[in-house]
Amino acid sequence: MNRSRSDKLFDMAKNYIPGGVNSPVRSWKAVGGVPLFIKSGKGSIVWDVDDNQYIDFVGSWGPLIHGHAHPAILPRIHEAITRGTGFGAPTEVETKLAEKIVKAIPSIEMVRFVNSGTEATMSAIRLARAYTGKDKVIKFSGGYHGHGDGFLVKSNSSMLGDSIPDSTGIPISFAKETLIAEYNDLSMVEGLFQSQGRSIACVIVEPVAGNMGVIPPDKGFLQGLRKLTLDNDSLLVFDEVITGFRVAYGGAQSFYGVKPDITCLGKIIGGGLPVGCYGASKDIMRLVSPLGQVYQAGTLSGNPVAMTAGIATLELLQEPGVYQQLELNGSKLSQVFVDAFSKIEKNVLVNRVGSMMTLFITDQEFVKDWTTARRCDTSAYGAFFHSMLKFGVYMPPAPLEALFVSTTHSDEQIDQVSEAIYMAVEALR
Ligand SMILES: *Cc1c(COP(=O)(O)O)cnc(C)c1O
Repeated sequence: MNRSRSDKLFDMAKNYIPGGVNSPVRSWKAVGGVPLFIKSGKGSIVWDVDDNQYIDFVGSWGPLIHGHAHPAILPRIHEAITRGTGFGAPTEVETKLAEKIVKAIPSIEMVRFVNSGTEATMSAIRLARAYTGKDKVIKFSGGYHGHGDGFLVKSNSSMLGDSIPDSTGIPISFAKETLIAEYNDLSMVEGLFQSQGRSIACVIVEPVAGNMGVIPPDKGFLQGLRKLTLDNDSLLVFDEVITGFRVAYGGAQSFYGVKPDITCLGKIIGGGLPVGCYGASKDIMRLVSPLGQVYQAGTLSGNPVAMTAGIATLELLQEPGVYQQLELNGSKLSQVFVDAFSKIEKNVLVNRVGSMMTLFITDQEFVKDWTTARRCDTSAYGAFFHSMLKFGVYMPPAPLEALFVSTTHSDEQIDQVSEAIYMAVEALR
């Protein structure tokens, strides 16, 4: 497989962009090798600049639930763009997308659009602090909420309960406002509320973790967080940037039947263009400027081209049978991973909720939090990733990430991918 043009473009990119990429995971640091430079995509297929063809399971890291350049979305984007690319003034499509989101997700009565998931979570935390008059935030180890200062924080195991920055450039004093608990460990959250409940503004959680690999919530975990936050006059914030419109049209909150106070969305609602949003009840959202005193703004927020792509994407998701098909193809694929690896007597686990899943190469019985996720064989994943690439399948280029099935992965393609998986695993012997 010739990749000389990708190699060349990466060398050039490194001169002008740190590490040659605009988001670290794209560098393939976790799997080794030189990242593919992508030329184009159509449906579930992407082509690199050397004209190699791959079946794509990255899907731009989640947004592309309908694949690349969808024939029902692309013309809508074209049409929107011919009217101008943005005005910094209200447009009708903003209200249309807002209404669709409010109708889909019962905990949301109003939304504010921003430009990324990161902006959504940062703004949601500001709002939670304003609403409760408290400062501290509980987040979970391995949970990702974008790159805001207060989220790039880990627990300092040598000083129990104390948090330290997980990136340089973040003041320790900021990090101390974030408390860390282990995912799926309610008693740890309970302990934090017992010791510091009076100062905890909110708990922020991915209702299905997607950024330490896919980790579903244990039965009762989300319900437990709901109860603890209610009992302590603290807010529950669901970061549904991945799960919103992915695991169900109403998001993970409808899938698991737990109603958060604030919801963060992104990825799918932008139909592949840059968007995020946060939403809540009117009682909470009326604190947001210009109605209230929580300042938050954006030059390009609610961009009409992105709003149009989002509306078209959600309309396609409302067609009958969409989520059943995603579930079916997701379950087929996860079964093939397990079967293929059993043939070479390697233990794997596939964690999956609908069309998001992660293959963990591990002897453990389960992966349910950051501690167990980190114990997986990440170098074996790297070898598998490169083997899959040779057989024409583009998996996430990092072991602890989610693989996404789209509505454009046809039954025939899933069969084709299944064959590729058996061959790629066989090549690892
Ligand atoms: C991707 C992601 C974010 C950040 O969104 P960006 O658009 O990359 O800023 C936040 N939370 C979760 C759960 C995500 O997966």
